[in-house]
Amino acid sequence: MIELDGLTKRYGEKVAVDHLTFTVAPGIVTGFLGPNGAGKSTTMRMILGLDRPTAGDVRIDGTHYDRLKDPLTYIGALLEAKGTHPGRSAYHHLLCLAQSNGIPRRRVHEVLDAVGLTGVAGKKAKGFSLGMGQRLGIAAALLGDPRILMFDEPVKGLDPEGIHWIRNLMKSLAAQGRTVFVSSHLMSEMALTADHLVVIGQGRLLADTSMADFIARNSRAYVRIRTPQRERLLDVLHSAGITVVETGDGSLEVDGGKSEVIGELAARHQLVLHELSLRQASLEEAFMQLTAGSVEYHAHTGRAPAQAWGDGWRKG
Ligand code: ADP
Ligand code: MG
Repeated sequence: MIELDGLTKRYGEKVAVDHLTFTVAPGIVTGFLGPNGAGKSTTMRMILGLDRPTAGDVRIDGTHYDRLKDPLTYIGALLEAKGTHPGRSAYHHLLCLAQSNGIPRRRVHEVLDAVGLTGVAGKKAKGFSLGMGQRLGIAAALLGDPRILMFDEPVKGLDPEGIHWIRNLMKSLAAQGRTVFVSSHLMSEMALTADHLVVIGQGRLLADTSMADFIARNSRAYVRIRTPQRERLLDVLHSAGITVVETGDGSLEVDGGKSEVIGELAARHQLVLHELSLRQASLEEAFMQLTAGSVEYHAHTGRAPAQAWGDGWRKG
């Protein structure tokens, strides 16, 4: 369990992390999502005691990182900047880590095997591809057999096979009851991996929700309409009590799956339609909307401003 309580980091004028309060629970993968510069890496560094909070507090199983005895056995982390000595082999890199942390040598073989690097264990890390480097970083995180694992953008720059592997690894670690906290700037990646979602933007908490709930709220269907007789169609739809959102590109959007009703209304009033399509708002859109900070709907639609993040799924 990782607990953040009002965690804040300022660099001069810049507030990188702004009063973050949330808990990362064991047994699930928690996705830490935010655009570049949102404060994910800074938060993770504070969790590991590598950056000192300006205010607030963060605890690992109730204790500050600095006070953990043998911290690698509590929490393992893959951070953005890799601390691998380029001239050292994968095996020696891990062995040094193990020896300085009171971890038995056999664990080195176990983790090399777990990440699929046994065959290149004797090779110098500087000759490693990005994917191999990530695997080595993950091996180091797993070395102390910790109950908590934290990965900062682990799939960045990886090929599909590497991404698939990391995704499955995180899920299996969570299934073993471990706490898995993984950051990404890609909603699509989180949707496939995370059970729970913490979203931040400009250092602030924007959402703390189960992935299932986020999907249920944000992947709603809507109908997109294009017509050369826009004003007349708007009148017809309003008279029928159908709420319409006017988008910036001139098309109209209606929540839900009412395409038949709209098509029949248009036919009855002899209105020409150039498009009548049922669409699914993507989670990526929901994320962009959420992190954009505010939602602008056309005033005349009478739609309430987005309530928290739940309704902020599409720009009007
Ligand atoms: P993320 O990992 O979500 O992309 P970061 O935590 O790296 O975001 O950065 C958050 C913000 O803090 C950014 O605006 C970044 O420029 C700033 N920042 C991060 N580290 C430092 C630092 N050491 N000194 C000054 N500003 C920093
Ligand atoms: Mg980062």
